Amino acid sequence: IPMAKTIHIAVIPSPGFSHLVPIVEFSKRLVTNHPNFHVTCIIPSLGSPPDSSKSYLETIPPNINSIFLPPINKQDLPQGVYPAILIQQTVTLSLPSIHQALKSLNSKAPLVAIIADIFAQETLDFAKEFNSLFYLYFPSSAFVLSLVLHIPNLDEEVSCEYKDLKEPIKLQGCLPINGIDLPTPTKDRSNEAYKMLLQRAKNMHLVDGILFNSFLELESSATKALEQKGYGKIGFFPVGPITQIGSSNNDVVGDEHECLKWLKNQPQNSVLYVSFGSGGTLSQTQINELAFGLELSGQRFIWVVRAPSDSVSAAYLESTNEDPLKFLPIGFLERTKEKGFILASWAPQVEILKHSSVGGFLSHCGWNSVLESMQEGVPIVAWPLFAEQAMNAVLLSDGLKVAIRLKFEDDEIVEKDEIANVIKCLMEGEEGKRMRERMKSLKDYAANALKDGGSSIQTLSHLASQWENFGGT
Ligand code: UDP
Repeated sequence: IPMAKTIHIAVIPSPGFSHLVPIVEFSKRLVTNHPNFHVTCIIPSLGSPPDSSKSYLETIPPNINSIFLPPINKQDLPQGVYPAILIQQTVTLSLPSIHQALKSLNSKAPLVAIIADIFAQETLDFAKEFNSLFYLYFPSSAFVLSLVLHIPNLDEEVSCEYKDLKEPIKLQGCLPINGIDLPTPTKDRSNEAYKMLLQRAKNMHLVDGILFNSFLELESSATKALEQKGYGKIGFFPVGPITQIGSSNNDVVGDEHECLKWLKNQPQNSVLYVSFGSGGTLSQTQINELAFGLELSGQRFIWVVRAPSDSVSAAYLESTNEDPLKFLPIGFLERTKEKGFILASWAPQVEILKHSSVGGFLSHCGWNSVLESMQEGVPIVAWPLFAEQAMNAVLLSDGLKVAIRLKFEDDEIVEKDEIANVIKCLMEGEEGKRMRERMKSLKDYAANALKDGGSSIQTLSHLASQWENFGGT
């Protein structure tokens, strides 16, 4: 039997933990399942990456080649804009070094395909230059992907701001969605972030395929609708769930984290894990309401606390040195020391969700957190903050019925009584119990998608053979 030919692929993430990890995890899965593939990750960065990204990058295994590009200087970018703009600009300014890296790789061995994060879509031109196939890695659901692909139509059909739409938007195969719940960059159509999104959405029609982080069992009708609509020649590839669960990274090295020791002494399903993703932040008023709400609920909890900010994504692209614990209400730590465990800024999330003492997740509904919770069968209290998180919350609460969504008051604050009631309902109520059962079924579906012959593994093999055939014999 002749040796399988080596197929060379380049993968381009964008800065930001949740645009780096899933695409690298995808690369790992590709080379594990198809050892004849060789992947090079070309990594742009904005200044010095946050500690979370740094420690993750150290875990990239040697069978994946990584090239770290010269970082973009923060001073060269606009201040006070959405993270999406900073991420996009970082990639744009890195294009010359991306090009150089690709060119040098391609001269050694032809690149069969380039897979780029959505913020690195501009590298499509390079794929053309090297005659490589070009795929986008969309780190979210079929639901959000359907919306993004539909934005050019919405832009033509709708004259008002989307948030003022009276009727929900109905996308084929998807839940109806209110304008107010669309991704943050659509909130203001005159904003640069919206224009960038619109441009990306228009150019999406030019790619060979879109890989997205979902699985057929979860979103079959949305996925079928995407395929039927066709959008020309684009292939749609649900390859998820792709998270750090099941990845070699979380074989605990060194000492067990204190919070995991604490969890061992708590009853089954009794602890609520509270976290707002890799960079979500709350205002001081909201931190107080959350603290009192947790206390009022009487439930056990692990809370990852960050220093307050008036921007909801303040910690997304950088870490601060400020001690977040000093922003908690006076006496809170003392009063809750039996029931609560507080972590500053960062938690070993995957290990926490895996623990049988954890019975609920109060989450900002970042897609990675959603998938991780699903893979561990943990129901959710939904507290969306930014990006496409409100759409994820809609999918979880209205669609899958595995989450309760918190109500915000007019001043955009969630009050302590609402927090306490919803937490109690999820952790102790009948409704919570049903949600936990439904989440356990989704856990099984997710595991099935990833086992030998499962839907996502088949999708991956299908992609791999496309690339092998393109590469010639
Ligand atoms: N995460 C973590 N510890 C934390 C906060 C986040 O390990 O304290 C990980 C989490 O497991 C997930 C990712 O960071 O994989 C966050 O991604 P998500 O899409 O949920 O939210 P985002 O960071 O994009 O807002």
